[in-house]
Amino acid sequence: MRSRAVLAFGLGLVLLLTGCGDPARSPAQAAGPSPAPSAPPKPKPTASPRPTRTTPPKPRLRPMPTTLPAGLRRSTGDRAVALTFDDGPDPRWTPKVLDQLRAARVTATFCLIGKQAQRYPALVARIAREGHQLCNHSWRHDMNLGRRPLAEIRADLVRTDRAIKAAVPNARIPYYRQPGGRWTPEVVAVARQLGMRSLHWSVDPQDWAHPTAETIIERVESAVRPGAIVLLHDGGGDRRQTLAACQRLIPDLKRRYGISRLR
Ligand SMILES: [Zn+2]
Repeated sequence: MRSRAVLAFGLGLVLLLTGCGDPARSPAQAAGPSPAPSAPPKPKPTASPRPTRTTPPKPRLRPMPTTLPAGLRRSTGDRAVALTFDDGPDPRWTPKVLDQLRAARVTATFCLIGKQAQRYPALVARIAREGHQLCNHSWRHDMNLGRRPLAEIRADLVRTDRAIKAAVPNARIPYYRQPGGRWTPEVVAVARQLGMRSLHWSVDPQDWAHPTAETIIERVESAVRPGAIVLLHDGGGDRRQTLAACQRLIPDLKRRYGISRLR
Protein backbone atom coordinates (compact mmCIF):
# COMPACT_ATOMS: atom_id res chain seq x y z
CA MET A 1 0.00 0.00 0.00
CA ARG A 2 2.80 2.33 1.02
CA SER A 3 4.84 1.57 -2.12
CA ARG A 4 1.78 2.18 -4.24
CA ALA A 5 1.34 5.61 -2.71
CA VAL A 6 5.00 6.40 -3.43
CA LEU A 7 4.55 5.25 -7.02
CA ALA A 8 1.48 7.40 -7.47
CA PHE A 9 3.31 10.40 -6.03
CA GLY A 10 6.26 9.76 -8.35
CA LEU A 11 4.02 9.52 -11.39
CA GLY A 12 2.23 12.70 -10.40
CA LEU A 13 5.55 14.48 -10.11
CA VAL A 14 6.65 13.26 -13.55
CA LEU A 15 3.45 14.57 -15.07
CA LEU A 16 3.87 17.86 -13.27
CA LEU A 17 7.49 18.25 -14.38
CA THR A 18 6.89 17.34 -18.02
CA GLY A 19 3.93 19.72 -18.07
CA CYS A 20 6.15 22.54 -16.80
CA GLY A 21 8.81 21.79 -19.38
CA ASP A 22 6.48 22.20 -22.32
CA PRO A 23 5.63 25.85 -22.91
CA ALA A 24 3.30 24.94 -25.77
CA ARG A 25 0.92 23.15 -23.44
CA SER A 26 -0.77 25.49 -21.02
CA PRO A 27 -2.98 24.25 -18.18
CA ALA A 28 -5.89 26.08 -19.81
CA GLN A 29 -5.45 24.07 -22.97
CA ALA A 30 -5.03 20.86 -21.07
CA ALA A 31 -8.13 21.46 -18.99
CA GLY A 32 -10.10 23.36 -21.64
CA PRO A 33 -13.56 22.40 -22.78
CA SER A 34 -13.68 19.52 -25.18
CA PRO A 35 -15.31 20.08 -28.58
CA ALA A 36 -19.07 19.89 -28.80
CA PRO A 37 -20.18 16.31 -28.50
CA SER A 38 -21.06 14.70 -31.80
CA ALA A 39 -21.62 11.04 -32.44
CA PRO A 40 -20.01 8.97 -29.73
CA PRO A 41 -16.76 7.39 -30.94
CA LYS A 42 -17.25 3.87 -32.12
CA PRO A 43 -14.94 1.37 -30.54
CA LYS A 44 -12.56 0.00 -33.15
CA PRO A 45 -13.10 -3.66 -33.85
CA THR A 46 -10.07 -5.65 -32.89
CA ALA A 47 -9.23 -9.17 -33.91
CA SER A 48 -8.04 -10.14 -30.49
CA PRO A 49 -8.51 -8.31 -27.24
CA ARG A 50 -5.44 -6.52 -25.94
CA PRO A 51 -3.94 -8.17 -22.93
CA THR A 52 -4.62 -6.07 -19.89
CA ARG A 53 -1.22 -4.90 -18.75
CA THR A 54 -0.40 -1.94 -16.61
CA THR A 55 2.69 -0.12 -17.88
CA PRO A 56 5.12 0.58 -15.06
CA PRO A 57 5.46 4.26 -14.22
CA LYS A 58 8.53 5.96 -15.63
CA PRO A 59 11.26 6.69 -13.13
CA ARG A 60 11.25 10.19 -11.78
CA LEU A 61 13.51 12.73 -13.52
CA ARG A 62 16.37 14.07 -11.48
CA PRO A 63 15.99 17.79 -10.75
CA MET A 64 17.93 20.16 -13.00
CA PRO A 65 21.00 21.61 -11.32
CA THR A 66 20.84 25.39 -11.01
CA THR A 67 24.38 25.88 -12.35
CA LEU A 68 26.30 24.29 -15.18
CA PRO A 69 28.30 21.25 -14.03
CA ALA A 70 32.07 21.10 -14.16
CA GLY A 71 33.88 19.65 -17.13
CA LEU A 72 32.27 21.57 -20.00
CA ARG A 73 34.37 22.81 -22.87
CA ARG A 74 33.58 26.44 -23.57
CA SER A 75 36.55 27.75 -25.52
CA THR A 76 38.88 26.54 -28.23
CA GLY A 77 42.04 26.99 -26.17
CA ASP A 78 43.71 29.32 -28.67
CA ARG A 79 42.87 32.48 -30.58
CA ALA A 80 40.83 30.86 -33.35
CA VAL A 81 37.08 30.58 -32.91
CA ALA A 82 35.09 27.41 -33.58
CA LEU A 83 31.76 27.26 -35.38
CA THR A 84 29.44 24.50 -34.21
CA PHE A 85 26.31 23.47 -36.12
CA ASP A 86 23.61 21.58 -34.23
CA ASP A 87 20.52 19.46 -34.93
CA GLY A 88 21.45 18.10 -38.36
CA PRO A 89 22.17 16.47 -40.61
CA ASP A 90 19.35 18.05 -42.58
CA PRO A 91 18.99 17.41 -46.32
CA ARG A 92 17.88 20.96 -47.02
CA TRP A 93 20.36 23.00 -44.97
CA THR A 94 23.44 20.93 -44.15
CA PRO A 95 24.72 20.78 -47.76
CA LYS A 96 24.44 24.58 -48.01
CA VAL A 97 26.38 25.06 -44.78
CA LEU A 98 29.01 22.60 -46.03
CA ASP A 99 29.25 24.50 -49.33
CA GLN A 100 29.86 27.77 -47.49
CA LEU A 101 32.51 26.26 -45.24
CA ARG A 102 34.27 24.66 -48.19
CA ALA A 103 34.22 27.90 -50.18
CA ALA A 104 35.76 29.74 -47.22
CA ARG A 105 38.28 26.90 -46.65
CA VAL A 106 37.37 26.48 -43.00
CA THR A 107 36.18 23.52 -40.96
CA ALA A 108 33.58 23.34 -38.20
CA THR A 109 32.08 20.93 -35.70
CA PHE A 110 28.72 19.25 -36.37
CA CYS A 111 26.58 18.09 -33.45
CA LEU A 112 24.45 15.35 -34.98
CA ILE A 113 21.10 13.97 -33.88
CA GLY A 114 21.24 10.16 -34.00
CA LYS A 115 18.01 9.53 -35.82
CA GLN A 116 18.87 12.19 -38.40
CA ALA A 117 22.27 10.54 -38.90
CA GLN A 118 20.55 7.20 -39.40
CA ARG A 119 18.21 8.75 -41.96
CA TYR A 120 20.84 10.71 -43.89
CA PRO A 121 24.08 8.71 -43.76
CA ALA A 122 25.42 10.26 -46.96
CA LEU A 123 25.36 13.67 -45.31
CA VAL A 124 27.24 12.34 -42.28
CA ALA A 125 29.79 10.85 -44.66
CA ARG A 126 30.19 14.18 -46.45
CA ILE A 127 30.65 16.06 -43.16
CA ALA A 128 33.45 13.66 -42.14
CA ARG A 129 34.99 13.54 -45.61
CA GLU A 130 35.31 17.31 -45.74
CA GLY A 131 37.30 17.35 -42.52
CA HIS A 132 34.73 18.56 -39.99
CA GLN A 133 34.62 17.41 -36.41
CA LEU A 134 31.79 15.14 -35.21
CA CYS A 135 29.79 15.55 -32.04
CA ASN A 136 27.02 13.37 -30.59
CA HIS A 137 23.86 15.42 -29.92
CA SER A 138 21.68 12.56 -28.55
CA TRP A 139 19.31 10.27 -30.41
CA ARG A 140 16.20 12.44 -30.61
CA HIS A 141 17.20 15.74 -29.04
CA ASP A 142 15.91 14.83 -25.61
CA MET A 143 16.21 18.01 -23.53
CA ASN A 144 15.71 15.97 -20.35
CA LEU A 145 18.20 13.23 -21.17
CA GLY A 146 20.61 14.38 -18.46
CA ARG A 147 17.90 13.91 -15.85
CA ARG A 148 17.14 10.31 -16.75
CA PRO A 149 18.60 7.11 -15.25
CA LEU A 150 22.25 6.55 -16.13
CA ALA A 151 21.45 3.44 -18.16
CA GLU A 152 19.02 5.42 -20.31
CA ILE A 153 21.56 8.18 -20.92
CA ARG A 154 24.17 5.63 -21.86
CA ALA A 155 21.85 3.73 -24.23
CA ASP A 156 20.90 6.97 -25.99
CA LEU A 157 24.49 8.10 -26.51
CA VAL A 158 25.63 4.64 -27.64
CA ARG A 159 22.75 4.41 -30.12
CA THR A 160 23.67 7.80 -31.56
CA ASP A 161 27.35 6.88 -31.85
CA ARG A 162 26.34 3.70 -33.68
CA ALA A 163 24.21 5.59 -36.20
CA ILE A 164 27.12 7.93 -36.93
CA LYS A 165 29.53 5.02 -37.24
CA ALA A 166 27.13 3.17 -39.55
CA ALA A 167 27.60 6.11 -41.93
CA VAL A 168 31.33 6.58 -41.26
CA PRO A 169 32.77 3.28 -40.00
CA ASN A 170 35.95 4.68 -38.48
CA ALA A 171 34.43 7.91 -37.27
CA ARG A 172 35.97 9.59 -34.27
CA ILE A 173 33.29 11.23 -32.16
CA PRO A 174 35.21 13.12 -29.49
CA TYR A 175 32.37 15.35 -28.29
CA TYR A 176 28.91 15.17 -26.81
CA ARG A 177 26.59 18.19 -26.62
CA GLN A 178 23.50 18.05 -24.43
CA PRO A 179 20.34 19.30 -26.20
CA GLY A 180 19.27 22.68 -24.91
CA GLY A 181 22.52 22.96 -22.97
CA ARG A 182 20.59 21.27 -20.16
CA TRP A 183 23.65 19.62 -18.67
CA THR A 184 23.75 17.50 -15.55
CA PRO A 185 26.84 16.03 -13.87
CA GLU A 186 25.45 12.59 -14.77
CA VAL A 187 25.31 13.19 -18.54
CA VAL A 188 28.81 14.68 -18.45
CA ALA A 189 30.05 11.57 -16.62
CA VAL A 190 28.40 9.11 -19.02
CA ALA A 191 29.76 10.98 -22.04
CA ARG A 192 33.22 10.87 -20.48
CA GLN A 193 32.92 7.11 -19.87
CA LEU A 194 32.13 6.73 -23.56
CA GLY A 195 35.20 8.76 -24.53
CA MET A 196 33.42 12.04 -25.29
CA ARG A 197 34.16 15.48 -23.91
CA SER A 198 31.17 17.65 -23.12
CA LEU A 199 30.99 20.52 -25.55
CA HIS A 200 29.22 23.70 -24.49
CA TRP A 201 29.58 27.12 -26.16
CA SER A 202 30.41 30.72 -25.35
CA VAL A 203 28.37 32.53 -28.02
CA ASP A 204 24.70 31.76 -28.61
CA PRO A 205 22.87 34.04 -31.08
CA GLN A 206 19.71 31.91 -30.62
CA ASP A 207 19.35 31.39 -34.34
CA TRP A 208 16.91 28.53 -33.63
CA ALA A 209 14.29 31.17 -32.74
CA HIS A 210 14.48 32.64 -36.27
CA PRO A 211 15.84 36.12 -35.69
CA THR A 212 16.89 37.98 -38.86
CA ALA A 213 20.33 37.37 -40.33
CA GLU A 214 21.23 40.91 -39.25
CA THR A 215 20.36 40.10 -35.64
CA ILE A 216 22.32 36.84 -35.72
CA ILE A 217 25.37 38.73 -37.04
CA GLU A 218 25.04 41.47 -34.39
CA ARG A 219 24.67 38.97 -31.56
CA VAL A 220 27.72 36.97 -32.65
CA GLU A 221 29.88 40.02 -33.36
CA SER A 222 29.10 41.62 -29.99
CA ALA A 223 29.78 38.45 -27.96
CA VAL A 224 32.67 36.87 -29.83
CA ARG A 225 36.12 36.83 -28.21
CA PRO A 226 39.33 35.02 -29.05
CA GLY A 227 38.78 31.29 -28.54
CA ALA A 228 34.98 31.52 -28.72
CA ILE A 229 32.78 28.54 -29.49
CA VAL A 230 29.80 29.77 -31.51
CA LEU A 231 26.53 27.85 -31.44
CA LEU A 232 24.58 27.79 -34.72
CA HIS A 233 22.07 25.39 -36.28
CA ASP A 234 21.98 23.53 -39.59
CA GLY A 235 18.84 21.59 -38.64
CA GLY A 236 15.67 21.82 -36.62
CA GLY A 237 13.80 24.32 -38.80
CA ASP A 238 14.11 26.92 -41.53
CA ARG A 239 17.78 27.93 -41.52
CA ARG A 240 17.74 30.64 -44.22
CA GLN A 241 18.63 33.39 -41.74
CA THR A 242 21.50 31.36 -40.31
CA LEU A 243 22.85 30.73 -43.81
CA ALA A 244 22.56 34.39 -44.73
CA ALA A 245 24.33 35.38 -41.50
CA CYS A 246 27.11 32.87 -42.16
CA GLN A 247 27.82 34.48 -45.53
CA ARG A 248 29.17 37.45 -43.59
CA LEU A 249 30.20 35.87 -40.30
CA ILE A 250 32.48 33.21 -41.76
CA PRO A 251 34.80 35.53 -43.72
CA ASP A 252 34.74 38.13 -40.95
CA LEU A 253 35.57 35.71 -38.10
CA LYS A 254 38.18 34.02 -40.25
CA ARG A 255 39.90 37.35 -40.90
CA ARG A 256 39.73 38.55 -37.27
CA TYR A 257 40.48 35.37 -35.31
CA GLY A 258 40.83 32.42 -37.62
CA ILE A 259 38.29 29.59 -37.63
CA SER A 260 39.24 26.06 -36.64
CA ARG A 261 37.30 22.94 -35.90
CA LEU A 262 37.68 21.70 -32.34
CA ARG A 263 40.50 19.26 -31.75
ZN1 LIG B 1 20.22 20.99 -30.43
